[in-house]
Amino acid sequence: MSEIISSDNLRKLAAEWIEQGVRVAAPQHAGGRVLYLPLKNSADLLLDAFIHPANSAKEFLFPKSETLYAYRVEGQDVKLVEAPGTETPQVLLGVRPCDAAAFPILDHIFNWDCADELYNRRRRNTTIVVLACSAHDANCFCTSVGLGPASERGADVLLVPLTNDTFEVRSVTEKGRSLFAGKTQTDNVAAMAAAGPEPRFAPDAVRKFSAANFEHPIWGEHALACVGCGACAHTCPTCHCFDIVDEHGERVRNWDSCQFSLFTLHASGHNPRPDQGSRQRQRILHKFSIYPDKFGEILCTGCGNCTRNCPAGLGVLPLLIAIEHEEHLPA
Ligand code: SF4
Ligand code: SF4
Repeated sequence: MSEIISSDNLRKLAAEWIEQGVRVAAPQHAGGRVLYLPLKNSADLLLDAFIHPANSAKEFLFPKSETLYAYRVEGQDVKLVEAPGTETPQVLLGVRPCDAAAFPILDHIFNWDCADELYNRRRRNTTIVVLACSAHDANCFCTSVGLGPASERGADVLLVPLTNDTFEVRSVTEKGRSLFAGKTQTDNVAAMAAAGPEPRFAPDAVRKFSAANFEHPIWGEHALACVGCGACAHTCPTCHCFDIVDEHGERVRNWDSCQFSLFTLHASGHNPRPDQGSRQRQRILHKFSIYPDKFGEILCTGCGNCTRNCPAGLGVLPLLIAIEHEEHLPA
C-alpha cells in the first residue's frame, strides 16, 4: 500500500503550515519565470509544468547576504553582538531532486574546519519535501552524476506524481514522516518515476582529463563567450563561495563567485586567475576533482541551471561534453 495526497490537500496542508507560522518556500511564477520563493498563498504553489526554477533552493539555508555578528564601539571597548539567527521552522516544498541532493553535499563544507551554526540551525529547522521530475530538458544531466528524476538524496519526503492530480508520498526520514502524519490516504497504487536524461559524460573521464591537462587550450576556447557575470554560480545549488565584509558595524557574509575577476585579485595587483579560461577551469576542477578529493562527493547535481541561466549558453555541461570527447580521442 502507498500513502497518497491530492494536490488540493497538499495546498491545504501548505496553508496550515503557513497559518502555524512555518516559513514555506516553493516554486511559483514570478516576473515571467519560475522561482523558489516564500509561499504566502498556497494557491500560488506550482506542482507541474516547469523543469527547474531559475534560482536554487540553497538560498533558504545559505542566504545571499547574512549578518554573522555585529560590533559596537563603546569608548575604548568593542562589544560583539551575536547574530540573532532564526529558529523558525521551515518547509521547502516542491524542491527538485537536484536541489535537495545539494544539501548533504553542502553539509561537508559548512562543517569542515568549523561548524557553521547559522547554516546548521537552519538545516535542523528545515524539512525538505521533494517533487520528483516528470520531464527534463536538454540542460539536465542528473543521471551523469549518480542522481535521477526521483532521487531521494537530501529529501525528507519524496512526492512522486500519479495521475489525477495526486502524489505518492514516500517518507524518507522521521522528520518527513511526522510532517505528513495523518494527512495522507492509503491506496493500492505505486507511482512510476519518469525516465531521466541519457548520461552525457563520465565524471571519472573529466577528473582524469583535468588532472593531466591544466594548460589545455580547451579552457580558454570554452570561455571565449563568458562575460564573467557569475549567474552560473549564483543559481547553482552547490556553489557556496562567499566573501566577508564589514558594513555599518556588522560583519556580513555575501555570496561570491570564482567567475568574478576580483575573486582572486591580490592587493599587489597580481591575479593568479587572470582570465575567464582559468576561472572556468577552476570551476570544473573544484566540482569534479578538488571537492571529491576532500569530501568524496562531486560538487554538482546535474541540475543544468548554470547553462539555463547563462547569457552566453555556457555553464558546465558544454565543457564537460567537450572534455569527454577529448578524453576519448585517439592518442
Ligand atoms: S559561464 Fe555564463 S553564467 Fe557563468 S560567468 Fe560566464 S557568462 Fe556568466
Ligand atoms: S554546476 Fe551547473 S549543473 Fe552542476 S549543480 Fe551547479 S548549476 Fe547545476
